This record gives sequence, C-alpha cells and structure tokens, in this order.
Amino acid sequence: MVDFKESMARRFNNVFVCQRCNATNRSSSGKPPQCRKCGSQRLRLKKKKRKAAA
Ligand SMILES: [Zn+2]
Repeated sequence: MVDFKESMARRFNNVFVCQRCNATNRSSSGKPPQCRKCGSQRLRLKKKKRKAAA
C-alpha cells in the first residue's frame, strides 16, 4: 500500500507559495531561494486548507 503520510508530507511540506504572484514553488529540500515565476523572495509555506464550511 502507498504510504499516505509520505505523500501528504511531500505535497505540503516542500511546497511554497509566492506572496507576489501566488505561484507554487516546489522544492525537494528546504526553501527555494526565489519564486520560479517572478523571482520574488517572498515565499510562504503552503498550508493545508480545510474546506469544511463554505
Ligand atoms: Zn512569484
């Protein structure tokens, strides 16, 4: 069976979102130095979003 925790970690832990253009930047390890699209250094870690009540 596929390791679910592993895939979740891969999906969320290494994904950063540019605060300027909202592009997602994936990196294998650590934080990417800058956005791949606009070159901004303002990146935040992508958070797991819950769509419980909408
Ligand atoms: Zn960007």
